[in-house]
Amino acid sequence: MHQLIALSVPCLFALNCAAIAQVDDEVRQPNIVFIMSDDHAWQAISAYGSNRNQTPNIDRLAEEGIVFDRHFVENSICAPSRAAILTGTFSHIHGIPTNAEKFDATQPTFPALAQESGYATALVGKWHLKSEPVGFDYYERLVGQGLYYRPTMIRDGVKLENEGYTSDIITDLAVDWLEDGRDPDKPFILMVQHKAPHRNWMPGPAHVGDLDDVELAEPDTLFDDYSGRGTASTLQEMTIRDHLSKMDLKLELPDWMMKMTDEERSAWESAYGPRNEAFESLELEGDDLIRWKYQRYAKDYLRCVASIDDSVGMILDTLDELGLADDTVVIYTSDQGWFIGEHGWYDKRWMYEESFRTPLLVRWPGTITPGRRTNLMTQNIDFAPTFLEILDLEIPDRMQGESILPILKASDDEEVEDIGWRDALYYRYYESHGPHRVPKHEGVRTRRWKLMVFPELGEVEMYDLDTDPDEMTSIADDPAHAEVRARLEGLLVELREEYQVPETW
Ligand code: CA
Repeated sequence: MHQLIALSVPCLFALNCAAIAQVDDEVRQPNIVFIMSDDHAWQAISAYGSNRNQTPNIDRLAEEGIVFDRHFVENSICAPSRAAILTGTFSHIHGIPTNAEKFDATQPTFPALAQESGYATALVGKWHLKSEPVGFDYYERLVGQGLYYRPTMIRDGVKLENEGYTSDIITDLAVDWLEDGRDPDKPFILMVQHKAPHRNWMPGPAHVGDLDDVELAEPDTLFDDYSGRGTASTLQEMTIRDHLSKMDLKLELPDWMMKMTDEERSAWESAYGPRNEAFESLELEGDDLIRWKYQRYAKDYLRCVASIDDSVGMILDTLDELGLADDTVVIYTSDQGWFIGEHGWYDKRWMYEESFRTPLLVRWPGTITPGRRTNLMTQNIDFAPTFLEILDLEIPDRMQGESILPILKASDDEEVEDIGWRDALYYRYYESHGPHRVPKHEGVRTRRWKLMVFPELGEVEMYDLDTDPDEMTSIADDPAHAEVRARLEGLLVELREEYQVPETW
């Protein structure tokens, strides 16, 4: 039923490809709903084994589809990841190595190619690429990062003011477009891109009181003193101990951030007021203060995640109600991972597993074996070629990712390994002197090993992920692992060549 028809070749990049709309009723083109949150750690999803929260709606995708246990980004920061997803390329190709650059929207992206081929395309929520979205019949985007309450959004160049909580507004826009906004005769791509759970983690009215009586589990590495590796980890400014602001901890919120209705404000005050008083009288210090800040911060983060899980549930229900579920590929992912106290941190940027790795769950009834998990290594550059292959469109040579369609279709990993799959990933982070002061680094990850190189520091770190999954003790200078290090350094050179990465940073 969901087998793609082979569209005739002239349809690829055709100016007006009516073929899709004219296909036999028996062979329907799949729709794609791409749901992406911002900074959602895989550790905060119950399908990934979270010991701190439950995400029943995201878990539906795991039960009915496939969970990717080794999905990664090419550069763990917001704008570069978004550009990588759209273009299927690494940062040095798509031109957004940091959050500072403006995206050149004339480069090939999967939404634009899909739109040219006759797909209806829409984007709601966070865009964050400085230029206007291209390739969408309809978009309604947040201005910049967007606020958690009463966000200003832009549609057709016009600023629109909204009341309410941003995750709910984005969800409503997505549901409205599915129900009434799209051309019902066309297959579609809908991108739902949330702001939550990005810093400064302001929960919505439905979840502001959640977890009040709960003591969250602490990560094993909350009190990491970074003594097991070089100096890079000591240079950052993203510790729960020293760098969370009063605004992050909801001890002070400026008026412009508290643009709420009276009802919303009252829910907030009843949740935070008494706790503010408690904080003043706590007189905590040392590890106890770190523990308090961790609980305070992580709970707000997880409350924001709860609004994202609600959103996924609403969208899945809408697809069911409209009879679209069987013909729609649903993707859930985040623009990168996140530290919820691991290594004592919040934020992302590092090639360490918590931020380098990110969630990916896909449901496609009739194609994906329900409940499957894969250990094959995938990366955010794989989305664009995957979507183009699902749509049966040509994948531009410029795209550097691999289509994951063979993984989606396979009943197990061996089937894919038999035809070949990548065994190493390349990573590069550029923003040394930006917020949080994480030194620039590049690296290679295989199934078992990780090598990280810090060019400004002249330092190398290496981890055996089988025996040290928390990456606490670098073995880069251990003579017993010299051969592995040499092999990984060789692999790094090969990957740089393969992806045409410039020598200079
Ligand atoms: Ca992000």
